[in-house]
Amino acid sequence: MTAVTPASASSPATVRTRFAPSPTGFLHLGGARTALFAWAYARRHAGTFILRVEDTDLERSTPEAVQAILDGMAWLGLDPDEGPFYQMQRMDRYREVVAHMLQQGSAYYCYSSPAELEAMREQQRALGDKPRYDGTWRPEPGKTLPAVPADRKPVVRFRNPVDGDVTWDDAVKGPITIANRELDDLIIARPDGTPTYNFCVVVDDWDMRITHVIRGDDHVNNTPRQINILQALGAQLPIYGHLPMILGADGEKLSKRHGAVSVMDYPAQGYLPEAMLNYLARLGWSHGDEEIFTMGQFCAWFDLGHLSKSPAQFNPEKLAWLNNHYIRQAEPARLAALARPMMEQDGAQFDGAPDLDAVLALMKERVKTINELADAAMLFYRTPAPDAELLAQHLNAAVKPALLDYAARCKTVEWKKDALAAMLKQVLADHQLKMPQLAPAVRVLVCGRAQTPSVDAVLALFPREKVLRSLQSA
Ligand code: GLU
Repeated sequence: MTAVTPASASSPATVRTRFAPSPTGFLHLGGARTALFAWAYARRHAGTFILRVEDTDLERSTPEAVQAILDGMAWLGLDPDEGPFYQMQRMDRYREVVAHMLQQGSAYYCYSSPAELEAMREQQRALGDKPRYDGTWRPEPGKTLPAVPADRKPVVRFRNPVDGDVTWDDAVKGPITIANRELDDLIIARPDGTPTYNFCVVVDDWDMRITHVIRGDDHVNNTPRQINILQALGAQLPIYGHLPMILGADGEKLSKRHGAVSVMDYPAQGYLPEAMLNYLARLGWSHGDEEIFTMGQFCAWFDLGHLSKSPAQFNPEKLAWLNNHYIRQAEPARLAALARPMMEQDGAQFDGAPDLDAVLALMKERVKTINELADAAMLFYRTPAPDAELLAQHLNAAVKPALLDYAARCKTVEWKKDALAAMLKQVLADHQLKMPQLAPAVRVLVCGRAQTPSVDAVLALFPREKVLRSLQSA
C-alpha cells in the first residue's frame, strides 16, 4: 500500500524535531521552552526543526490564537526550517490513513452507542473494574460481530495489542513501561469521520519523519498509545523526551498568579529576547555552572542527557538579572530604537536635548527592563519640575552658597565629565561640604529628582546653558 507511506525516507542520522503547539491564545513560557529545546537539538545536530500547529480544536484555534504562537516564535527567533504546517489542512491525509488501517485490520468500526458505552462503564465500575471498551465490535478470528445497527454512524477504533507491554527509553525520564491491558482501543475517528487528537499526532510525526519528540510530560500518557499506532503502521519510532513542567516559586504549576506566563507579555514589559532565551535554556537543563551564554553556545552544548528529571522553578528575579546583563551588552542604537517610542508616549522632548544613545549608555547599568531604562532617561527630555518638598529638603542654607559658587564656575569649566568632577570636588573642599550635601541639590535643580547616576556624567550630557538656567533658579 504505497499511498500511506510517508513522502520520502530520510537517513536515520538526520535529526528532525518539531514543536507542535495547540493554539490557546498565547505562547506559554512552558511551550516556548519546549520549542527552544526542540530547535536547539535540531541545530546541534545540523537537523531540521519543524513547526506544526495542532489547530483541530476549532473553538480555541482562532486566527488570533495561531498568530500569537507565530509572534512568540518570531520574537524569540526560533525560526522553523519547515512549516508551519496546520493539521486542519491535513484532514484528507488522516482519512487516508484511517482507511488504510481499516483495510489492514489494525482499526475497526465500532457501532456502540454512547448509551451502551455508559452502561458498559457502569457495569465495570460496579464490579470494581477499570472502565474500558469491552471489545464488542473488535474483530477476532472466528468471532461473529453483532448486526450493524441501522442509521448509526460508527467511530473507528484502533485495535490495540492485548498482551505485552509498551516500553520506551525516555530521553529525560529513563525507561517507561506500560502494560497493553492498561490501554483501551482508542477512538481514532469520530462518527463524522474527523480524526482524533492522538491519531493526528501519530500521522504527522510519521509523515514528517520526526526522529525526536521533545514535549511536555503532560503527554507521557499519550506516548504508549502513539507508539502502538506507529508500530501498526510499520513506522520507525522516534526517541521521546518528556520535559518536566515549570512551577512557580510556590511549587504550584506556573499560572497567571505567578506573573506573566505569555511570552509576548515580556517584550511589552521591556525584556530582550536573548534574556528570555537564556533564561528558558536554564529551566531544566544545565551545562556545568554556566548561567550566561549565547544561543550559539547553547546550540553547541544542548543535549538531552543534561535535562533535569525534576520540575524547574520559574524565578522572575533571575530573568530580570539576565535582562539587565543583555541590556548592558546591547548596542546603543538598538536600545534607542526600543526606548524612544516609549519615551515619546511619555511626552519626551527630543529637540535640543542630549543625544539619546549617550543618555542610554549612561543609564543602562542598573535597569532591569527597557521600560525602566526609558523611564530613567526621561529626566533628560522633560522640563524638570522639582516639587517644593524636594527643594526644601535639599536646598538648605548650608548648601546655598556652595551652590551659587558651583553655578558660577559652571560658566567657564570645560564641559566634560572629568572637568566637572574636579570642579565639584574643589567646591566641596572650599565650602567644607560633603558630596551627599551638594550633589542631591544639583540633581534636584537640574533633573527634578535627587537620585541619578554620577552627577558629573549626567550634567555633561546636558547643554551648559540649560544647566546654568536650572541652577540659577536656586
Ligand atoms: N499540541 C500539544 C500541546 O500543545 C503537543 C503535542 C505533542 O507535542 O505531541 O500540548
